[in-house]
Amino acid sequence: MLPRSEPGELAVLVDLPHHSGLGGALTYLHGHALAPGTLVQVPLGRREVMGIVWDEQATTASPPEPGSCKPVAAVMDLPPLSAHWRALVTFAADYYRRGVGELALSVLPPELRKATPAALARRGARLAKRLNRPAVAPHGQGSAVDGAAPPLTPEQSAVLQALLQTTGNEQTPPAGPPAPVLLHGVTGSGKTEVYLRLAQRTLAQGRQVLVMVPEINLTPQLEARLRDRFAGHTLVTLHSGLTPAQRVNHWLQAHLGQADLLLGTRLSVMASLPRLGLIVVDEEHDPSYKQQEGARYSARDLAVYRARLEGLPVILGSATPSLESWRHAQQGRYRLLRMPSRIGHGALPQVELVDLNLQPRRVASSADGSLLSTALVAAVQEGIDRGEQSLLLLNRRGYAPVLHCGACAWKSECPHCSAWRVFHKADRSLRCHHCGAAERVPRACPACGNLDLSPIGRGTERLEEQLAPLLRGRDGGPVRILRIDADTTRQAGSLQSQLAQVHEGEVDVLVGTQMVAKGHDFRRMTLVAAVNPDGALFSSDFRAPERLFALLMQAAGRAGRDPKQAARSRMLVQTAYPLHPLVQALRQHDYDAFAASQLEERQAVGLPPYSHLVVLRAEARTVQAAQAFMAEAGAAANETLKSLKAFHAAQAVGGPFGEVTLYPAVPAPVARVADLERWQMLLESASRPTLQALLRDWSEALLALRERHRAVVRWALDVDPLSL
Ligand code: ADP
Ligand code: ZN
Ligand code: ZN
Repeated sequence: MLPRSEPGELAVLVDLPHHSGLGGALTYLHGHALAPGTLVQVPLGRREVMGIVWDEQATTASPPEPGSCKPVAAVMDLPPLSAHWRALVTFAADYYRRGVGELALSVLPPELRKATPAALARRGARLAKRLNRPAVAPHGQGSAVDGAAPPLTPEQSAVLQALLQTTGNEQTPPAGPPAPVLLHGVTGSGKTEVYLRLAQRTLAQGRQVLVMVPEINLTPQLEARLRDRFAGHTLVTLHSGLTPAQRVNHWLQAHLGQADLLLGTRLSVMASLPRLGLIVVDEEHDPSYKQQEGARYSARDLAVYRARLEGLPVILGSATPSLESWRHAQQGRYRLLRMPSRIGHGALPQVELVDLNLQPRRVASSADGSLLSTALVAAVQEGIDRGEQSLLLLNRRGYAPVLHCGACAWKSECPHCSAWRVFHKADRSLRCHHCGAAERVPRACPACGNLDLSPIGRGTERLEEQLAPLLRGRDGGPVRILRIDADTTRQAGSLQSQLAQVHEGEVDVLVGTQMVAKGHDFRRMTLVAAVNPDGALFSSDFRAPERLFALLMQAAGRAGRDPKQAARSRMLVQTAYPLHPLVQALRQHDYDAFAASQLEERQAVGLPPYSHLVVLRAEARTVQAAQAFMAEAGAAANETLKSLKAFHAAQAVGGPFGEVTLYPAVPAPVARVADLERWQMLLESASRPTLQALLRDWSEALLALRERHRAVVRWALDVDPLSL
């Protein structure tokens, strides 16, 4: 803590790396006091950088040398970031073990950080001018319903009634801070309409609404629905696909309170929203909410934290809730609301299993990698003949995962990674999906010169190729197959135009990866087939079944969205494990059964949500360097744990001290990527506070290891990791 500062001294957060040990706050001079949260420009070394005036008690600025403080260079003409915002950032930095300065500045739009006061003033003037154009309708109840709102179904009404009890209304304010709500509704049950109604109320109260989605590009329909329904209000988006200028403009509109609705991906949880009144987290189970680099925060979890901090309602929606949220609901920490039926009494598609053990060997495992059962081909053909669409889901892009030489057993290994390079036929390349290294397919085997190289296994490209000759178009013409995956959608706008083709009915069969399984409201689709989902059943990652189940339930939800066709909509699952509990639960559309079986397994072995995890990840040039670092890091963790225990005992504060299990360091599942050896070490504890206490001291100890472990290129703590 700071000694009481002299008049004119300000604590200012700047983007100092965590390891500087300063927590990011430095002392600067200014003629008069500035409110915490004010953006300023300050000299730092030879540069001038953006800083945020900070609450002096909350930071650990080093006491300045007398006379060494520099003055603030400029003050930005913007309202200060709120106390709530500062508390959110402070919590996130502490919980995910990052410097608060580093985190606070990293969640501001990059363009804002570069802006001078003059540039900002120009931008502000332009924004204000745009906003002075007459709105379609004045704010208030009436303006919110420009796009016609359908009458609610009984299930929607019941859920909304329950929600209004939680969130209160003008006459009866809520009893206490509202509990987070988990809205478990099957795909197509009308969850979005519930969000819209809640948003409408919030807007009518003059407050802002934050709607979070996992990936904005995959759900253009949600943005359209929001814009349509709330045409009289200002909606802005925040996601990584915006230009730097758009991003800063949208951020400013939110911060200045000019935007009423913010629709965004995970980074939007940190947006400044002074009038915030409601947070919606759609598809709350989606792993995209977890940031995978820098501050590895879970935007879903931070949304819940933010709502509690600000006393706001937060709605987490999903057809397949994360097991963490599900358990919170079971424990009564979240309020569970359910919508078990599809709109229009449409049935969920009938799930049929194709047992690959019963398929002729020739079909099931032929060397050309074909894995298309007669049942699947027949079902697709029936759909085509009726003028309907099918979706074939295969979660692997490229033509074949490996190229192989039959003469000498050479395989297309990546020289930089412990992985195969994938054969892409379209541009005849071998590409590593881990490091990106690509080269032309060799004409002959690089090891023995054999000219006959063969692809093993199958990706979407090959599925598309194999499918074409097996099907005929509706009028005897060729079948129209469209493939959508990361390879076909590299160019900006290409995903949108490909999806439009599907919506327009210009496609009979859609082949794709998980990209096409999520969220899309395809109206002509009556068949969804999972071509080869078995791999994830036996993955080393304990969350793989949860992800697979969510993906397949999502995919199933793409079929029969038009109630007229729902009765004959089907999902086919090709599997060699028809009796697997996951497959059986999928067959019954039984999320509860799946969740129960998973939770039982997790409890038996003490995995989340029954425990909390932290992973230390490190990348080094050699295995020896990685191991040496991990050994010292492990020893430091044990030391820290010992002294924490001793402290706890000496204080006699009572309450049990949670045990922490430290597992030996192991190579990551893909052990080498881009010539770096990747190792990881897992810590597990049933007590989150104990784990957090350990992390606080341990992360300091890790910083002290830096000097002696220069061969470790990167390391990071991943709190509540999603993948192991
Ligand atoms: P979810 O978000 O649960 O997948 P949606 O909110 O997208 O479901 O609703 C599915 C479909 O049903 C959408 O086309 C939507 O316009 C329509 N819909 C939603 N609520 C109603 C309603 N009350 N009456 C008629 N149609 C509705
Ligand atoms: Zn060879
Ligand atoms: Zn590679």
